[in-house]
Amino acid sequence: MIVVSQSASQTLRALRISVHGIVQGVGFRPFVYRLALRHGLTGTVANNSDGVAIHIGGPAETLDRFVAALRAEAPPMARIGRIETRRAARLPDETSFRILPSRSGARPSTQIAPDIALCADCQGEILDPTNRRFRYPFTNCTNCGPRFSIVERIPYDRPNTSMRHFPMCGDCSREYHDPLDRRFHAQPNACPVCGPRLSWRDGEGQPLPGDGLEQAALALAAGAIVAIKGLGGFHLAVDGGSHAAVATLRRRKLRPAKPLAIMVRDLATARQYCRLTDQEAALLTSAEHPIVLTALREQSGLAENIAPGLDRIGVMLAYTPLHFLLLSQPAAPKALVMTSGNHRDEPICTGNDEALQRLRGLADFFLLHDREIVTRVDDSVARIMDGRIRLLRRARGYSPVPVPLRRPTADILACGGEMKNAFCIVRDHEAYLSQHIGELTGAAQFDFFRESIDHLQAVLEVAPTRAACDRHPDYLSSRYAHRLADCREVQHHHAHIGAVMAEHGLAGPVAGLVLDGAGYGGDGTVFGGEIYRADRHGFVRLARLAHLPLPGGDRAAEQPWRMGLALLYCGLGPDGLAEPALPAGLRTLARASREMIGQMLAKGVNCPLTSSCGRLFDAVAAILGLCLESGYEGQAAMLLERQAHLATDREAAPLYPVALAEEKGVTVIGSAHLAGPLCRDLLAGVPLPALARRFHLWLAASLATVLERIRRQTGLDQVVLAGGCMQNQLLYETLAVRLRQAGFAVHGGEMAPMNDGGIALGQAYIGGCTCV
Ligand SMILES: [Zn+2]
Ligand SMILES: [Zn+2]
Repeated sequence: MIVVSQSASQTLRALRISVHGIVQGVGFRPFVYRLALRHGLTGTVANNSDGVAIHIGGPAETLDRFVAALRAEAPPMARIGRIETRRAARLPDETSFRILPSRSGARPSTQIAPDIALCADCQGEILDPTNRRFRYPFTNCTNCGPRFSIVERIPYDRPNTSMRHFPMCGDCSREYHDPLDRRFHAQPNACPVCGPRLSWRDGEGQPLPGDGLEQAALALAAGAIVAIKGLGGFHLAVDGGSHAAVATLRRRKLRPAKPLAIMVRDLATARQYCRLTDQEAALLTSAEHPIVLTALREQSGLAENIAPGLDRIGVMLAYTPLHFLLLSQPAAPKALVMTSGNHRDEPICTGNDEALQRLRGLADFFLLHDREIVTRVDDSVARIMDGRIRLLRRARGYSPVPVPLRRPTADILACGGEMKNAFCIVRDHEAYLSQHIGELTGAAQFDFFRESIDHLQAVLEVAPTRAACDRHPDYLSSRYAHRLADCREVQHHHAHIGAVMAEHGLAGPVAGLVLDGAGYGGDGTVFGGEIYRADRHGFVRLARLAHLPLPGGDRAAEQPWRMGLALLYCGLGPDGLAEPALPAGLRTLARASREMIGQMLAKGVNCPLTSSCGRLFDAVAAILGLCLESGYEGQAAMLLERQAHLATDREAAPLYPVALAEEKGVTVIGSAHLAGPLCRDLLAGVPLPALARRFHLWLAASLATVLERIRRQTGLDQVVLAGGCMQNQLLYETLAVRLRQAGFAVHGGEMAPMNDGGIALGQAYIGGCTCV
């Protein structure tokens, strides 16, 4: 207790202040305490079920400064929502400022903090040989460290986390109970005496001698694959400078081409490999430390099989002391490829025994520790587009921070889609979009989905009776949602639009442009290039991309060459598939395969129709010979975007014509007419980058033209951009700039991914709409 003296000459006043948001478990009360002392104010601060309650008194002007500083100087992990201030009669104690013990209330409306990257103070300590935490890989404080991944239930106190197995030593306990210490009430507080420890094992799980960090660094430098237990799960790590090590990892993980992300020690090292913008550098070093998709330097020294054929790479900075210390070892490679520790189509491993079993044969060594991971959280992935942070995968650092809903929304459980699944729980007008769950196709993933729903419902103390899901009847997520009596189906692309509307507080109607791979439309065709007039109640399809046949159905998505032939057939007829006219890339296909597809197209056998934008990208990439077989989702589009980056504006002229037609009241954006000019330009030797860029600009121009026409007819001037294809930076930025110049207000996904990882938010916003 500290006694404060006050000058009696000023007007004294008392206030009751309620602070809402993520304000518990983030050092907020000690921050308030120190702030009050600094301003010479008296009173109390306490946690309650609404957040933090402050009762404070002093000179009126000083109180104003104190309230302003609450928001301006809040601790890094706090996320302040509302601050309510009202005059109070008098103070309970006018001589000191005190932190009161927590009061338990009814249903807690307070929020759980996400896991936050190692802070600068803790980093300094683990590098300081005189500090008692020198080289200790589980160092943390109230400003950093694990939160969501170790919480078993609320309130967020040590006995309710996986740190309960580690009773604090005297030194840690003193820090924990000292309001002026950086570790005051830091629930995961630990040190080498009392906290979690590393263990270093061989590929069979047998303990090996030596210092784990040193040994792991040596093994990685020698080209081994090391399974590392991190914050929210296991990674498989290899030397990012070694082509052979990356090739081994790809072979063992059965992941031939999908781009991998790297982890480096610090920003300076990241700059050696990447050309970072200021905004990207700020995002890399933010409290969240996501993987940031950024421009790879040429001759970077990284193995080129990390992101084959691409000019962008995912990079992250070491975000736990363990990773930081590992990368600080003299022997350690400067860049580690870090991929999730799992087999294809399984969730990332979290438990030691589970990892030793499931990752056997994948990893040569294991770097384990004994702090249990309660909740599995993958790394988040973000990219800066059109000047904003856009999450491509929402997980560590971002979950479970809620998206505040500015329109009335019922408590609801939205179960998301099938690919890149995430679910969403709305409680009291706040949308908790879950961490990335993954592809909901196998039993293990489905278990992860159900467990995560149960866990988040328990932590939020909510059990919605209303549900929302995709219209696709076969999705596991849809079947799960239908167990609740009050279940609303939301069409896939309507949900995409809804997610952006939710994030930006829009009620609609908006013109929603959704470009993606595939969504269940319900009319027998596959949707994926749509413009809707949408609000929270429903939608009308105003425009779409022209139908292309999908020769072989789903197989067409894995084999872009099928789409290439389909586009040629639609534009040029059967002659388009004949040898002399065929672009060089497609000529490498076996004649029998080409003829088979030709017959399927001619007879319309097993050729469902699609307006998918993803498949249109596939078709063009195949015609240009960039991608005949797809090794991962989105590969053809990413290779096409990469080519387009190499072109100059001048090379892109002339533009391909925009071709619009009307069909049953829907505007149809023709694409078949591209086949002729693409083949002609290829034959004439126009460079691939120019062609790739022409295609992107044609697509943006076509869509903008249609949106302008729609505005003339309907007055809709709010545009929502969504769908997985919008992760294409060139397309997104070209569209956004052009639309804004034409006077539209343009909205895209930011904290909710524009791919299928965001649709649960849209389902919740639409399914939970309570207005009539
Ligand atoms: Zn810290
Ligand atoms: Zn200790």
